[in-house]
Amino acid sequence: MVRGVVQTLAVVGRVLEGFDEEGRPLWHDGMVVEEGRVVYLGPHPEERAGPGAKVVEVGEGVVLPGLTDSHAHLTSLGLALRTLDLRGVRSIKELKLRVAERAKELGVGEWVVGRGWDQELFEEGRWPTRWDLDEAAPANPVLLVRVCGHAAVANTLALSLAGITDSIPNPPGGSIERVGGKVTGVLKEAAVQLVYSAARKGGSEELVKEAEKAMLSHGVTCVHAMSVTSEELGALQNLARAGKLKLRVRAYLDPTVPEPKPESEGMLTVVGLKALADGSFGARTAALREPYSDDPGNSGVLLMDRDALVRELEKAKKAGLQLAAHAIGDKALEEVLAAAKASSTRLRIEHASLAPPDLLDELAGLGLWVSAQPRFVTSDWWIVSRLGRERARWVYPFRSFLERGVGLSFSSDAPVEPCNPFEGVYAAVTRGSPDGLEIAKLTAGEALTTAEALRCYTETAPKLLGERLGRLSVGYPADFVIVDRDPLSAPPPELRRVHVLATYVGGEPMYTTAVK
Ligand SMILES: [Zn+2]
Repeated sequence: MVRGVVQTLAVVGRVLEGFDEEGRPLWHDGMVVEEGRVVYLGPHPEERAGPGAKVVEVGEGVVLPGLTDSHAHLTSLGLALRTLDLRGVRSIKELKLRVAERAKELGVGEWVVGRGWDQELFEEGRWPTRWDLDEAAPANPVLLVRVCGHAAVANTLALSLAGITDSIPNPPGGSIERVGGKVTGVLKEAAVQLVYSAARKGGSEELVKEAEKAMLSHGVTCVHAMSVTSEELGALQNLARAGKLKLRVRAYLDPTVPEPKPESEGMLTVVGLKALADGSFGARTAALREPYSDDPGNSGVLLMDRDALVRELEKAKKAGLQLAAHAIGDKALEEVLAAAKASSTRLRIEHASLAPPDLLDELAGLGLWVSAQPRFVTSDWWIVSRLGRERARWVYPFRSFLERGVGLSFSSDAPVEPCNPFEGVYAAVTRGSPDGLEIAKLTAGEALTTAEALRCYTETAPKLLGERLGRLSVGYPADFVIVDRDPLSAPPPELRRVHVLATYVGGEPMYTTAVK
């Protein structure tokens, strides 16, 4: 189908328009789409659409408004999806075969990235070298990360793209292995990052497309792309200009992008800047008011205090952009709230993972928005021992946010978590109770209903940006998803198995499986 020639659609089946003020679902028996917009909701859409319309049979499934993932990293996700799984490889010979195969699939010049090899398992009894990889794929840059993530091997082309030569000194905190003065391709610690960032730069457009494909297959029609670098922005602009972007992308730029400004082209809109106030619970770098319960000398790392955040807010305001501030620990959240108060500028908070009642109240009073990742609830199985029971009561407090009227939009933070929103709905509704997680009992009161979780994935993020998206009301763009069952009546443990059959953006099928 040619882009821009949008057919009239008669969608036959149950359609969820959205939710009313009280959060009740609004169901209809069909929908007509013209010129990419919803023009009718109700029975007999085929008659209403007239002859020549394409009939879309929903069958046993239902139609939902397109989902927004309000925090994801596109090129990193693309790279993660492309990464070869090398766990269990028994020899360098096998490693070379796998690399050669992938290089052939991808074509000349594309990065081959893999992870999971372990030389202890190799029958050759040695580490792989760049010369091994050159034999397998001389015309593709190759980076293979060891199972531990702290070492890697790269081929000659990858090393040269990363600027690594025989004479270059070791980077701080890393080492480039040399034998007889020659670089062998084996890299340790920080040296791995040198090649990894080169891999992310190379082929940004391909990586964006890879990420986009995965998101569409899970029903995501709009993504808020975080920490967009200059390279990624360039790739997004090229794709948008060529009409090749299939997903609506709202970009929040990395602080390294020079002269950030709002812009809009086709499916792409640059809306904000990203700032990092702290790290993560996983690495014990999220900034806490009191030390970690399982690491008493450590309270994490505050990367930006309130003054630094105020400066960033002013910069964003001047540029006409919104600020998205990453704050995971309660100390970081406290600083972000103080900055918001001091500069009287609206901002959105990414994560707000630990929000005790005093900060919840303050956040609500300031009218700020939160983009949270429900799947962290089930992934961070160690959270209770890391924070202690008392504090852990206030992690991912979704119901407390909603009760206080905080605008809460959901997201994946992919590739940190998988980009399937139904995994997120499952986690928000069950809080991991089918998985026997301690956090489920401790924070049972924070569980949402399926309808609430779906609202956080559909209507909230567009509201945050003042956009007419996230519903299927008459006049709205026809961004919709056909799923195999009605999530609103599915038993909670089944929510993660909701399967997307087709995804339409602006009335065009961007992903389809077996739907007629
Ligand atoms: Zn992130």
